[in-house]
Amino acid sequence: MNNVLEIGGRTARSLVEEFGSPLYVYDASTVRRQFNRLDSAFSGLRHRLLYACKANSNMAMIRLLHSLGAGIDAVSIHEIDLAMRCGVPASEILYTPNCVAFSEIERAVELGVLVNIDNISVLERFGQKYASVPCAIRINPHILAGGNAHIQTGHIDSKFGISIHQMRHILRIVQAYGMNITGLHMHTGSDILDAETFLTGAEILFDHAVDFPDLRFIDFGSGFKVPYKPDDVSTDVETLGRRLTERFLAFCYDYGRDLELWFEPGKFLVSESGFLLTTATVLKQTPSCVFIGTDSGLHHLIRPMLYNSYHTIVNADRLGGIERIYTVVGCICETDTFGTDRRLAETMEGDVLAIRNAGAYGFAMSSNYNSRPRPAEVMMLEGVAHLIRRRETLDDILATQIPLPVDAFTPMEPHHD
Ligand SMILES: *Cc1c(COP(=O)(O)O)cnc(C)c1O
Repeated sequence: MNNVLEIGGRTARSLVEEFGSPLYVYDASTVRRQFNRLDSAFSGLRHRLLYACKANSNMAMIRLLHSLGAGIDAVSIHEIDLAMRCGVPASEILYTPNCVAFSEIERAVELGVLVNIDNISVLERFGQKYASVPCAIRINPHILAGGNAHIQTGHIDSKFGISIHQMRHILRIVQAYGMNITGLHMHTGSDILDAETFLTGAEILFDHAVDFPDLRFIDFGSGFKVPYKPDDVSTDVETLGRRLTERFLAFCYDYGRDLELWFEPGKFLVSESGFLLTTATVLKQTPSCVFIGTDSGLHHLIRPMLYNSYHTIVNADRLGGIERIYTVVGCICETDTFGTDRRLAETMEGDVLAIRNAGAYGFAMSSNYNSRPRPAEVMMLEGVAHLIRRRETLDDILATQIPLPVDAFTPMEPHHD
């Protein structure tokens, strides 16, 4: 409308004027749309969606997804506490840790949270201590997901899951302690492109599921792809839903019981809902290009620099008009390029830029590098902007530091006898 960007009924500029810049904004209606898409794709069988809350751990986001019917996939004991503080009961949380202290697993069991075990030695310890407590096992089927090596977790060198080639060892432990394995799980990383890869992984789990008579569910993790570039393909969840439903029901028939199908999406649910709004602070012409310098950087959104991921950037104040080629960078003393050689509407200093797909792994991976405060977060709900996290100050950054007394730094007098 009027060639300016609107998010959930408000212009990006008015949000920056009200809440400051830079600013994270999430449109709740996009989260609902994504949840409902996935939910209806699997409406043909008993299924459960667990929101992987590491993607965006704002309490408003956790509560929004829980209100839609999602459980929570937690990867730290702190995420379990966080979800419970948001009103999610322990029975709706799955704990999928990697390389954590066993004390965290003990705490999760005490809370009544289902633990998903991803290491042989942990399986043994769990069996010794909690033989009758139901648990799940995370299998690494060694299928490769997508093209980005940074976010693949299913390959042979991966630290995640217990290798499918160790199945006999798993079964020996399970049988020796009489363990109650209620779930089999795989998560091969973000960006599984197609239904085919999912189904390949599914077949591997089905093949081995018959060895576990107490199963209640099979969890296919995540890996749903969302479009980051205008011409990107997203996972066709409707086709995946049809094909996997058919295959899963046939498997349940062979298994002799109806199991639940679980997924634990993060990115798919929240990525597209989010925008990082940032102000163009300087335009800088160099011999090779024109930089747009912004008041954000890798301390607020590190995905472009860490994973080389592409995030679409638009000038939120001028969606149409003459385009020029810019390289958009942050203000951190480090190479923090948001996008190289991007076509953007001709930009002036002071314009508001919007970086898309900032709802997942944006704020959640932010830092205080360069002693810079983190931005505020706003959620758009039915046309109303709700501040869901205030902007940090230097006092917030210093809150955990303990100043030494000033004289601690005075050199001691040389000692003379
Ligand atoms: C990160 C993670 C997810 C979510 O991955 P997305 O790519 O954000 O959907 C799911 N399950 C586990 C165990 C994870 O670690």
